[in-house]
Formats: sequence, structure tokens, C-alpha cells
Amino acid sequence: MSKIKLTFPDDSVREFDEGTTVQDVAKSISTSLGKKAVAGKLNDTLIDVERPISQDGKIEIIAGEDDEDSLKVLRNTASLVFGAAASEFKKNLHFGEKESNDDGFFVDTDDKDGQISVDELEEISAIMHKIIKNNDKVERVMMDKSELVEMFKDDPYKSSLIDAIESVQIPVYKLDGFVDFGYDAILPSMKNLKHFNLLSVAGAYWQGKSSNPMLQRIYGTAFYKEADLEADAKRRAEIKERDHRTIGRDLDLFFVDPEVGAGLPYWMPNGATIRRVIERYIIDKEVAWGYQHVYTPILMNLNAYKTSGHWEHYREDMFPPMDMGDGEMLELRPMNCPSHIQIYNHHKRSYRELPVRIAELGMMHRYEKSGALTGLQRVREMTLNDGHTFVALDQIQAEFKRTLQLMVEVYKDFDITDYSFRLSYRDPANTEKYFDDDEMWNKSQSMLKGAMDELGLKYYEAEGEAAFYGPKLDVQTKTALGNDETLSTIQLDFMQPEKFQLTYTGSDGEEHRPVMIHRGIVSTMERFIAYLIEMYKGAFPTWLAPTQVRIIPVNQKIHGSYAENLLKELRAKNIRAEIDTRDEKMGYKIRDAQTMKVPYTAVVGDQEMADATVSVRKYGEDNSESENLPMFVGSVVSDINNFSRS
Ligand code: ATP
Ligand code: ZN
Repeated sequence: MSKIKLTFPDDSVREFDEGTTVQDVAKSISTSLGKKAVAGKLNDTLIDVERPISQDGKIEIIAGEDDEDSLKVLRNTASLVFGAAASEFKKNLHFGEKESNDDGFFVDTDDKDGQISVDELEEISAIMHKIIKNNDKVERVMMDKSELVEMFKDDPYKSSLIDAIESVQIPVYKLDGFVDFGYDAILPSMKNLKHFNLLSVAGAYWQGKSSNPMLQRIYGTAFYKEADLEADAKRRAEIKERDHRTIGRDLDLFFVDPEVGAGLPYWMPNGATIRRVIERYIIDKEVAWGYQHVYTPILMNLNAYKTSGHWEHYREDMFPPMDMGDGEMLELRPMNCPSHIQIYNHHKRSYRELPVRIAELGMMHRYEKSGALTGLQRVREMTLNDGHTFVALDQIQAEFKRTLQLMVEVYKDFDITDYSFRLSYRDPANTEKYFDDDEMWNKSQSMLKGAMDELGLKYYEAEGEAAFYGPKLDVQTKTALGNDETLSTIQLDFMQPEKFQLTYTGSDGEEHRPVMIHRGIVSTMERFIAYLIEMYKGAFPTWLAPTQVRIIPVNQKIHGSYAENLLKELRAKNIRAEIDTRDEKMGYKIRDAQTMKVPYTAVVGDQEMADATVSVRKYGEDNSESENLPMFVGSVVSDINNFSRS
């Protein structure tokens, strides 16, 4: 029999008979490794323990319990058992793509008579346990591709998946009458698959294309140890609890419906209230800081974006232009800079006016990829708290610092503390994506860095994250799902003033070129509110809460007019209050006010009416306290006014 040479991770080389399996190799090292091995890695590719090896190569035995590879083998097996169980549960079920990864596994399914629902997962899970109990192991066979084609000829999804496989011989797995392929490795013994969960379902297009049919994707996960599965379940519950999409639905803040437009959010009254408070806050703040607020159109002649460089460098993020039929091409703006440049340019400017600070809550549209859209975090229509400051060269440093100060002050008001600074430079290996002027880039990048160093602020540097017109200071935060997102940004731009030939008259009577500082303090309303929802877990401080006081009359008939009176007094002080007049039990109404995270619940009954008091319960507290009416109104007013406003 011919021999093959296998090289181990410690670089030792040993000879084996051709056709030896991973299991044999593991056993030859030690009996216990033979028992523990769940798969092998031949030349960095996972293979089954029973797969014969017929070539020289690098070999590694996979035998751990918490490393990525062993978990993948475990999750592959869970995915296969799910397939067997689901096809027992639903006889006409078809299967699309599947994947096992470091988060768990998913399997796409399709049933013309009705997709698998989340309520059915428990039943399917019970069948999975039964299958594991009745079967010691999965049967493995090598099949010719042609045989497999014949076997699945009536299944369009499987036929297409087989078509995409290049090899002639395909490893096929059989379990309890279920036949499947497309796994790199499956556990040698079913007894290791004990701790798994089926988690959720979601629609997923066949092969990710929106023109294809929508399948039902089933998510699950599996671990070797019970404690790991429990910890994972806890982590998932926490993420779900914080996810702004879940809270947005529960508190009726907003919705996004792909049927009426992916990435185009609808703000419900509750969410709109939060947004309005923030919009008023930031406009007042900026006006106090010397900004001039304006309104400019969301449509602009395409030529302006040709001049600005957006058409050349930013086109793939822009919606296609609208041909107006008379030679005019209109573009939905992806940024507000060219609009604010028009405002600057509308008058002749003198050095005495600088810095000129133009700001707007500017609506813009960006053609984000559908896969990147996430609730309010990444949308296609957004309103940016935008501002452009036009400065002389020697004012850059001071204005940059001032902008940063404004940002820090605003962050304090919202209690935002968990963020880091990122200096975003152009990608030196990909300079064609950016405005072409090496000297400008070097100068502005070192200027930004110099300003941060002078302020003694900690930052990290990232190449390839700059805007096409200049470097940025980005303020990075983490979303509930653990993704890094930019919230605020301050950007330096020598390019657009040049392109639009902007000038100001200097003290020397000559015309000079200003520099632009682009900045977004609270980012887009969409992303900022998504961030706040996750940070506050939906329990907004009183000044931001959609409803600040909910009044609950014990008996609508008897206490209704007293409640109305309280409502009037609260509203006279601009407090957002409402009466819960629903025909429900008291206990339910009080619980509901807590669920909706209303800061104050005011119960009024006989006692309160007689004493001219209210029984007040604050959000998150178990007890209520009796307060006289004017005192209660006064304390809500001071709570609203005393947010950590700097
Ligand atoms: P990103 O890298 O997040 O796509 P960007 O660098 O293209 O953003 P800018 O042009 O600097 O973004 O836009 C200003 C700010 O607008 C960003 O810092 C971010 O907070 C916010 N923003 C950008 N794109 C979106 C979007 N699709 N949805 C919601 N907010 C966004
Ligand atoms: Zn700008």
C-alpha cells in the first residue's frame, strides 16, 4: 500500500497508509485523542473524521470544546439534525442555503403551504432531541455528482446547489431517512450534541437576490457545554432588550416597511416627539454658539454635484438623477455641503465675518446597499444636524477646538460617555477614490492630528475612512449588536472652496480662499435616536420622553373630571401628559405605563380627590408617594429643566 506524509502543527512529519482517516491519525497519537477528535483540518480545510486521506499535507486534529472549528462541526451537526427534524415535521419542506459560523447556524427553508413559524420551533426542537436519542451517529457516503443530481431532480433549490459544486464525488450525510450534503464535517457521535437552541425565523431571499422568492431562514446555535449555551442565551436576550428596532416597535416610535420603501423610516407620534425635542434643542444650542440656521432644497441641479466632485467620487451612494425632459437634471442631495456653499456665496464676504457658520437640519438621500440597512441606524433618507463653517487658514485650529467643545457639551446633556475618537485618513493605496492633491492631504491630515495632540485627546488612526474631500475626526460608538458606528464628525475641506471658487476679502483688500469645516454634532436624527434608544434602553429621561406623565383615574366616571383638571395643569406647563381612559383594570394600566417607560404615573382616586393630591409612581420604582397637586407639577417641571444641561 502506498504511503502518504502528514505534517503536524509542531512541524513533525509522519507516514501513514494512503486512505487513512482523521480518526486513525488521532488514535495513533493517543486513545483519548481518538475519542475526542471531532474533525480534522487538512491543509487548513475542515474535513470529516471518517474521510480517507489520499495525499500528503498539513494535518491538525480538531478536538476542543470552545474553539471555532469544533464549534463549527457541532453547529453543522445541529443544522443537519434540524433538517431531519423539520422535514419530519413538515412533509413538503424544501431547503435552500445554510451556514454554520461563530454565532450559530442558519438554514433556509421553503414550504409553499406555509412557512415554519417561530411558534413551531419548540416542536421541531423536541423532534431534534428524539432523533439524537434514537441515532448514535450520522451515516456518511461518497456519491457521484450525477447520482445526486438524479436524487434531487425535483428540488429546484438543491439542484441549483449541486450544480454549483465542482467536485465529482460529493460527501453525503444520511440521518433518519433525511439526506443532505454541503457540510465540511459532522460530529462522529451524536452524544456530543446536547446543548442547542432554535432561536428565531426571518425572511431571506433565495441566494440573497431580491428578485428571487423569499424563503424562511431559521436561526439556531449549539455549544458543547450547557453553561456556554446559557451564557449565550443571556447575551442574546440582552442584545434584544437593547436593540433599537425591538424597542422602537414596543414603544411605537417608528417603523420601516420594505414593502413601502426599504430604509425609508416612518416616525410614529412617540418617535416624532423625541425627534422634535432634539431638533429644537440642537437648533437653540447652535444659534447660541454663533451658527446661522437655514433651509435649503433637497433637490439640486446635477451640475452642482459635478462641480463639487460628488458625481465623480460619490456617485454610487447617490440616487440616479431625474431627467426633467428639458435638459435639466435634478439630483436628490446626498450631502448638504453644496447647498451651504450657495448660501455663503450669495453675498460677498469679508474677513470680518469669518468664521461664517451655516447650519441646517438637512434632509439627504443616500443609496445605501439593501443588506446594510438597519432600522434607524443606517437608512436611505436621513436628516443630518449639519453645519459648515467657512474660516480663514489661521482660524482652522481654533474653530476645530470650538466645534469639539460644542460636541462635548452636547454629549454631556445626553449623558453620552462611551465613545472614542478616530482620525480618518485617505487610503494611500487607493488614492483615486479621493480628491487628487497630495500636498493638501498631507497638510490637512497633520493639521487634524496636531489639533488633537494639542488638546491632549486620545484617538486612533484609520486609513481609508476619510471623506473624498478631506480627513475627518469621527466619534465612534458601539451599537447593541456590537457594530462600530460614527456618530459625530468634524471634517476639514480645502477642496470644495477651490472647486466653487469661494472667496472672502482679506484685511489686505485682496480676495482669499476660505477653508470649510464640515461637522455633524448629533449626527443624523435617525442614527442619533437609534443610539439614544439603545443607550437609555427606551427609558428616556423626562425631558425626552414622548409621554412624561400618564394619569390613571381609579374610576373614570367618578375621578374623570379631577384627572382632566390635572391634565390641564400639566399641559399649561408644557408637560406632555395624557389620561389612560381605557376600559382596563387598574393593575394593567399601571403595568402598561411601566412597560411604555413613562417617567411619571399619577393615579387619582377618592383619597386623592378629597385631599387635592396625586399618587405618584416614578418609572422603575416599586412604591408610589402621595404629593399635593402643585408640588407634583412643580417637581415634573424641574425634572424636565434640570437634565444635565451644561
Ligand atoms: P458612514 O461611514 O457611517 O456611512 P459617512 O462617513 O459616509 O458615514 P458622512 O458623510 O460623514 O458619513 O455623514 C455624516 C454623518 O451622518 C455620519 O457621521 C453618520 O453619523 C450619519 N450617517 C451617514 N450615513 C447614514 C445613514 N445611511 N443612515 C443614518 N445616518 C447616517
Ligand atoms: Zn458637508
